[in-house]
Amino acid sequence: MKKVYMLFYLIFLELRKASSGVKYFAEVDVTDNCNLRCKHCYHFKGKEEFKRKEVSVDIWKKRFNELYKTGVRFILLVGGEPALRNDVLMLADKIFPFIYVITNGTIKIPRNFNHLLFVSLDGMEEINDSIRGKDVFSKVINNYSGDKRVAINMTITTSNYKDLEDVVNVAKENGFRGVVCNICASGTDVEIPLFIKKNERKMIIEELKRVKTLYPNDFLLSKRMIKWYENPDHRGSCYWGDEVLHFDVSWNRRRCFGNNADCSNCGCLAGSMQNPLKRVLSPREMMKLV
Ligand code: SF4
Ligand code: SF4
Repeated sequence: MKKVYMLFYLIFLELRKASSGVKYFAEVDVTDNCNLRCKHCYHFKGKEEFKRKEVSVDIWKKRFNELYKTGVRFILLVGGEPALRNDVLMLADKIFPFIYVITNGTIKIPRNFNHLLFVSLDGMEEINDSIRGKDVFSKVINNYSGDKRVAINMTITTSNYKDLEDVVNVAKENGFRGVVCNICASGTDVEIPLFIKKNERKMIIEELKRVKTLYPNDFLLSKRMIKWYENPDHRGSCYWGDEVLHFDVSWNRRRCFGNNADCSNCGCLAGSMQNPLKRVLSPREMMKLV
């Protein structure tokens, strides 16, 4: 029932935005800190240490209330690792009706936080842990197995794309909603072999299409989203970049995740989702990701 309500509410907000310009979706870094140091991380850019003072919950309350007053009803909480600030997540839960979180899955988010969690796994255990760190795969499964809030979020690299089908099966076995993916396409200071260069896209796209054909209900990229990845140059036309509000921890505005997004070679899941009204055209995928 919540999903149907959310769907109609989303359509209402989108129509309101079209008529009055009120933006209703915000993406916010709730912390600059993280307990992992993944090899492909755009946030840390290869730095070992990035310990920053956390923002107090009172300041978050003020910021969130201001966002709500301006019309924001959907919020995506990212970082760093947002589960380091479960207090901020629970605060957001009191203010915003619809929340998504992107988390590395190694720190539990309380069960009464009833929102969609994009939990990262970048392949089966061996590859995932070589990118994300020792024992991360097993921690994620131990923390979230059977949790219906979870959609697995895989960052596709040249080293892990052949694991996609197996990850879809892991999601099925553990009762998750399914699997989505980003393409690791831009960033700085990271191990170059992980990146998908423009001329390597074709083999990745073929794999996405193959897995979609085999698991249409569990691999949650719609055909339209795969097409976004197939044609990666989105300079000048991106719903996520233009119609969504983006904030870093210091409350500076930006256009996308981090500050180094390359719109000429986009691999962002958020970008691939495009306008929510168009997502309605892929109801199977949309209903699992609201
Ligand atoms: S979990 Fe996320 S924020 Fe933390 S190092 Fe990995 S990619 Fe970066
Ligand atoms: S990197 Fe992709 S998702 Fe981000 S603003 Fe550019 S086109 Fe949009």
